[in-house]
Amino acid sequence: MTKYDHWISGKSVPPSSGRYLDVCSPIDGEVLGSIAGGDAEDVDQAVVAAHDAWLSWRARKPMERGKLLIDLGRAIRERASEFIELETAATGKPVWQAELEVEGAAQYCEFYGGLVNIENGSVFDAGPGIHAFTRRESFGVIGVITPWNSPLNQCLRASAPALAVGNTVVVKPSEFTSTSTLAVARLATEVGFDPGVFNVVTGTGTEVGHELVSHPHVRRVSFTGSARAGREIGRVAADRIIPIALELGGKGANLVFADADLDKAAEGSLLAFAYNSGQVCSAGTRLLVHRDVHDEMVERLVAGAEKFAASMGPLTTGAQFAKVVDYLDIARSEGATEVTGGTTGPGNRVAPTIFTNVNNSMRIAREEVFGPVLAVIPFSDEHEAVTVANDSEYGLSAGVWTTDISRAMRVAEELEAGQVYVNGWRSSLIETPFGGYKNSGHGREKGLQALHEYTQLKSIIVSY
Ligand code: NAD
Repeated sequence: MTKYDHWISGKSVPPSSGRYLDVCSPIDGEVLGSIAGGDAEDVDQAVVAAHDAWLSWRARKPMERGKLLIDLGRAIRERASEFIELETAATGKPVWQAELEVEGAAQYCEFYGGLVNIENGSVFDAGPGIHAFTRRESFGVIGVITPWNSPLNQCLRASAPALAVGNTVVVKPSEFTSTSTLAVARLATEVGFDPGVFNVVTGTGTEVGHELVSHPHVRRVSFTGSARAGREIGRVAADRIIPIALELGGKGANLVFADADLDKAAEGSLLAFAYNSGQVCSAGTRLLVHRDVHDEMVERLVAGAEKFAASMGPLTTGAQFAKVVDYLDIARSEGATEVTGGTTGPGNRVAPTIFTNVNNSMRIAREEVFGPVLAVIPFSDEHEAVTVANDSEYGLSAGVWTTDISRAMRVAEELEAGQVYVNGWRSSLIETPFGGYKNSGHGREKGLQALHEYTQLKSIIVSY
């Protein structure tokens, strides 16, 4: 059985407490290995190492940092099969999905590695005798805290732009899925990152995550996870007066109008809620469908769902499986009609499950399930569709399916969500900024915007 230690200062470091946490297979519950059970002492060691490394890392030419990131992207691709194996074992996701996510992880390194030399500030005309300009500068140590649904991908979504602009990172992956994050930090050292630039401390949210956010040398936090933990982190960050990005949950509304191409809408809407067994923050889990095409759309979705079930993996943790099963019971007890799906076994498997006769005040329409469960809500006109879509505490992603370009543009503007997909549910683009409205969080990952998020702006005014 493999024991995984922290990765600090370019080497494996055992937990100071000597404690390890078992990691279990989502497929059959078998113990796969154990990870270091970190604590405040380990966090301090990693953050101090990252802080020391920052002084020379930020002084490197941007092109040198970029080249190392591009080398890391290439190395991930060369070792893709190892990462896919780690990711499928830890999360239970099928190989075809792990392949996409590992490729996406390599792309984050290449994208931000290539962007490092982009313009760094602005020049202002303040009149004769004054030269006024801005510089974007790194913060120092960034704490990166990630969940269990796409571990490697989410680690690099935050770490690649943070490193590109001269910060160093201490990553705290989910205690359920730490192995690919440890492997990529080790690989970063192998391709030439200085010791201390890319560190990983494993363990629980309270023993490691909380300590990381609280550490005086951590100058910014990127958190991806639940609203509950996001609030706790926000309280600590408020006391410390440090900026944070919160990438939280969602209850994505996916609007299908009567003039939509229903074949495409059904195919896209199925993936929108069932991909990764629904363990996707930006999933489209409320299908708002025009009454005229409601039955036809549900029929297509049911046919697609029954086929798609065979290619799905289990839910990643036993606790998540229990939560999803609870929500199936809640939906039934609220009077929704289950037209397909339910638990399938073996292990923590849930087939794509579709509920009709849902209204937007039911818990199944308001709360994030984080499983492959769809609530179908009929609407009569565009105004009603937009009103119901926006009646949610969340605002991460939304979709519109229509062949009327004016309606598509109008509705896309009115939807209260950080991302709106028109005639295709595409949450994986690296080029576009990604983040939430309302309780789905704040701050943006991805795109050029992420480089800006990991820098602070200094104005320099020269009088001559
Ligand atoms: P979680 O909040 O329980 O845990 C996320 C991470 O935070 C883990 O590493 C955990 O150990 C750590 N953590 C927990 N409590 C903490 C605390 N008090 N202080 C510091 N760290 C703490 O979430 P999860 O169950 O791992 O993931 C599921 C949630 O993540 C869902 O709500 C999902 O929507 C959200 N998510 C959001 C995005 C996004 O980009 N918006 C992406 C994926 C998942």
